[in-house]
Amino acid sequence: MSKIDAFSNSREALLNSDISAVELVNHFIERIEKHAELNVFLEVFGESALAKAKEIDEKLSKGEEIGRLAGMVISIKDNICYKGHKISASSHILEGFESLFSSTVVERLLAEDAIIIGRTNCDEFAMGSSNENSYFGNVKNPHNTKTTPGGSSGGASASVAAGLCHLSLGSDTGGSIRQPASFTGTIGLKPTYGRVSRHGLIAYASSFDQFGPISNSIEDIALVMEIMAGGDEYDSTCSKSDVPSYSDLLKDKKGKKRIAYLDSHLNHEGLDPEVKKRTEEIIDGLRSEGHVVEECKFDLLEQLIPVYQVLTTAEASSNLARYDGIHFGYRSDKATDLYTTYVKSRSEGFGKEVKRRIMLGTYVLSEGYYDAYFSKAQKVRRLVKERTEAILKDYDFIISPSTPHAAFELGSQVEDPIKMYLEDIFTVQANLTGQPAISLPLAESAGMPVGVQLMGKDFNEAELLQFSAELLHNYHLKKDLA
Ligand code: GLN
Repeated sequence: MSKIDAFSNSREALLNSDISAVELVNHFIERIEKHAELNVFLEVFGESALAKAKEIDEKLSKGEEIGRLAGMVISIKDNICYKGHKISASSHILEGFESLFSSTVVERLLAEDAIIIGRTNCDEFAMGSSNENSYFGNVKNPHNTKTTPGGSSGGASASVAAGLCHLSLGSDTGGSIRQPASFTGTIGLKPTYGRVSRHGLIAYASSFDQFGPISNSIEDIALVMEIMAGGDEYDSTCSKSDVPSYSDLLKDKKGKKRIAYLDSHLNHEGLDPEVKKRTEEIIDGLRSEGHVVEECKFDLLEQLIPVYQVLTTAEASSNLARYDGIHFGYRSDKATDLYTTYVKSRSEGFGKEVKRRIMLGTYVLSEGYYDAYFSKAQKVRRLVKERTEAILKDYDFIISPSTPHAAFELGSQVEDPIKMYLEDIFTVQANLTGQPAISLPLAESAGMPVGVQLMGKDFNEAELLQFSAELLHNYHLKKDLA
């Protein structure tokens, strides 16, 4: 890998005039073309990326101050709005649609001179765990191209793992940042619900969705988080509480921690023995360093996926009602009147998994079933939240594997939705409760990377990132690609 593949080096090279921002962009465009077979990018934003690069080069030549992200090349998932650029959520139904405004996160990154290099492939409307639900084909895992890079932010994780950008923005509703990070040996953070504005994110399940970064560098994640986070008048669920300087706090060593692991997670029957062993080694290592690491009882593991599925599909059935063949993108040419416009456009425009979830969501919200499914699931969500909060009152973090195993083979379980849903067993908890969670590349199985997850206290990304840096320093398993 070339030297500028790390943001800190790129920035230094820019400031020393060893490289121009235009050369930097061209370097990444070349790499993207070289790795086209991975199917990571749905579109490279060559023109706007080069225009931004020229702007940076001009500032530098005039001796003007450059933004904190000048020199950082970022890819965005294809469900993040960027004004004047196409966006499809990897769906046929948004064919030809262009964003009319930029998401708040994109605006904030651009204001600090980040270069947005393109949009990445993902599962259709962020529904999936393998990127195989994309209308534009699956993405390949750069560590082993027969396997999935995870989903739904599969293009995002692969873009970082293959060195096609410095950092990628994804979204996480049930694990879509952390599971792909786990499968590709990268770092992926789902912030606290309400820490980062969702304005300009194509909604899947609004009470779960969060934007977050994937990168090889915890420093870059901290920096991007402090720039993206914070109140936004366009998202009423976004907290106005102060955003600490995560990157400064990263260097703070805050002493010994209290860490919990959950009996149900480590004894889960689907957990790969190698992943279990490695997690236990890390737990032992942390104890010998003087941290308190204790087992906690958690008896709601079996409820997590069903509750997640009932609630997210209910929200999705409402959020996706807007794609009617009239307001956005695709319209069936077989439509003859209003009714057939709706029915045919939606039938032809949505893929199989999205239709399955819309139907399931409509069913659980329907009269006669609402109390049995939707209301009940909401009650269980509350229980999960209370139980998790009680643990996090006593402990700073909850540690677990991010995923039960390493990346699976493409095609191996695409016909088995239940098996696919169970991929999210360790990640959905943080979406049901809202707490921040991060996947760190600390484990492996048969030579493939697997993440270890840390869940932290609400709005305490600072401590979560700081301790993640410490864990990465002590336990990182480096898996460099050729
Ligand atoms: N894999 C999960 C699902 O299929 C998570 C999706 C997400 O976080 N967007 O729903």
